[in-house]
Amino acid sequence: MYLYDQGLMWFRRDLRADDNAALYHALKSCRRVWCVFVFDTDILESLPRADRRVEFIHASVIELDARLRALGLGAHRSNTGLIVRHARAQEAIPALAAQLRVQAVFANHDDEPAANARDAQVRGQLAHAGTVFHGHKDHVIFERREVLTQAGHPYGVFTPYKNAWLKQLTPYDLKAYPVERYAASLAPMPQALESPIPGLSVIGFESTNLSQLPIPTGARGAQHLLEDFADRIDRYEATRNYPAVKGPSYLSVHLRFGTVSVRQLASLAYRMHLQGMLGASTWLSELIWRDFYHQILANFPHVVDKAFKPEYEAVRFEHGAHARALFAAWCEGRTGFPLVDAAMAQINRTGYMHNRLRMVVASFLVKDLGIDWRWGERYFAHHLIDFDLAANNGGWQWASSSGCDAQPWFRIFNPVTQSEKFDPQGKFIRRYLPQLAGLPDSAIHAPWTAKPLELTSAGIELGSTYPLPIVDHALARARTLQRYAVVKKAGTATPA
Ligand code: FAD
Repeated sequence: MYLYDQGLMWFRRDLRADDNAALYHALKSCRRVWCVFVFDTDILESLPRADRRVEFIHASVIELDARLRALGLGAHRSNTGLIVRHARAQEAIPALAAQLRVQAVFANHDDEPAANARDAQVRGQLAHAGTVFHGHKDHVIFERREVLTQAGHPYGVFTPYKNAWLKQLTPYDLKAYPVERYAASLAPMPQALESPIPGLSVIGFESTNLSQLPIPTGARGAQHLLEDFADRIDRYEATRNYPAVKGPSYLSVHLRFGTVSVRQLASLAYRMHLQGMLGASTWLSELIWRDFYHQILANFPHVVDKAFKPEYEAVRFEHGAHARALFAAWCEGRTGFPLVDAAMAQINRTGYMHNRLRMVVASFLVKDLGIDWRWGERYFAHHLIDFDLAANNGGWQWASSSGCDAQPWFRIFNPVTQSEKFDPQGKFIRRYLPQLAGLPDSAIHAPWTAKPLELTSAGIELGSTYPLPIVDHALARARTLQRYAVVKKAGTATPA
């Protein structure tokens, strides 16, 4: 007995058919379900014409289509592929729902403010036509107001949130949705809607260097990365901070676009955590950080352009031509601090940056160059293949001390000691800055301290083949302490 005769499943940041909450609920409650993905022109318009994310999504949509067809073939031997549109989602979804005469549309939650606004519009238009819009939790383990303090407020500090998250977790929260069990509800594609998935150029984009990078696309790509990571998860704690080492999972882009289920990852990590594996416990914590920042964005949407802790709005950052020149040097990896410059080369060439380096370059921009964290956040938003508003905003506010960090603002990273500690032999620096390769390990973290002979034998002329440092860290630190002193005066009212 079905709740609805016909339904429509709308894929967004959940580009997989397996263990997908909304797809499962759609198939279970409707006799026939069509599936759609919209290349939303409202989102695509503002992107550069060569964008690794669009290429990643495009390849993943092709794989999703194939998987839906395979599920349908197994169930009733008909074409149950994906309907793909290139249009404004706000218009395309209600129009398609009307054309297919569905009674319900199913989608997974997306709590970014722009997505919420879009969904409210779609929900309203569908309601007007008598069609129900069902939203489901899929992207995180706990969302919105599911984990609250004893007083019933959302958490603003990670450690108590993590403790409450772990306490609240039940096997049900990690259980996969058995989509394949209801695959018979996938509806055959009406002939009038059958058309090939538009090519990348048809939707107005060019190829990038994605295919040359170790970033496999689609749900199969994610499983491939996961298999590789599962073999070394026990070493995660020991290796995760060293950018030259293959320590992390590299699954962030798959979590971002839902080509992997967070339930699959969290249940693997949780099982190993219960067996006492430290690496798995630490990795589970990272997945909890992800949930944490998602609930911060959902419950405190002011963080999108304002400090999480309002008193930090009093901090005055540099502005004008000099600030713009410093920012350009940071973006282009010309600061004269090798670890910072190598990290910026990594993001610019690959769209990925190691977590330790994200912390180093963010701290450097805000606390050494005195630039507003929002400038850096925007740069990351344009360049990261795994850009996720919640995690990126959380990371930048953490670095600028205006966010959910228990550490005081006067803890300022030293870019040279970070480099000595986390890239001791300069392997990462040499990979991205080959012009410094000939320097001895003792000088590679701060080339301006190298002996003249070391520089000449490495073929380096500071200020010509590699920049002199654009700032003196000790002076910059003193300026930052002054800049942030306004916060001390305003008091620090930290939320729970
Ligand atoms: P792993 O170490 O394997 O971690 C597993 C997963 O846990 C990640 O894929 C990610 O989904 C999640 N995770 C790990 N660390 C964090 C964290 N600190 N906050 C939230 N989630 C985390 N992550 C993004 O996914 N998108 C972003 O736009 C983003 N911007 C960031 C900006 C700054 C300034 C900082 C400091 C961090 C940012 N992060 C962001 C978090 C983190 O750097 C990346 O998630 C991580 O480097 C991705 O690599 P991985 O998949 O190999 O991570």
